[in-house]
Amino acid sequence: MTKTICSACNAELEAESKFCPDCGTPNASPKVPPAPVAVTAAENVAKPAQNNSQLSVLGYVLTMLALSLPIIGIILAFVWAFGAKTNLARKNFCRAVLILSGMFLLITIVGVVANYSALAELIGLLL
Ligand SMILES: [Zn+2]
Repeated sequence: MTKTICSACNAELEAESKFCPDCGTPNASPKVPPAPVAVTAAENVAKPAQNNSQLSVLGYVLTMLALSLPIIGIILAFVWAFGAKTNLARKNFCRAVLILSGMFLLITIVGVVANYSALAELIGLLL
């Protein structure tokens, strides 16, 4: 309990009290306990540490090399593209790679299906 001095009679009084117990003068500087700060649910949720730093040239080179690895590359692309703690530059790069890879895969499938008979004939000629 902290004490303060009455502005009228100089009596010692509790800092939290509103009036002086001796003379009844309102406490000039009542020490109001701080109201508990309402923490919203959004603020309360621990945000995953987002790494927004730049990716170096070496970082890009290593990322591209890692993504070019068979099987491991596609797993790393998904991990980096959707991982919570991935460097933002690497995350966006991996998302772009996944979008382009998906587009090329789709185009290839459509192309093979659309030209299946021609391809089968060509393979037949080669064999
Ligand atoms: Zn007083």
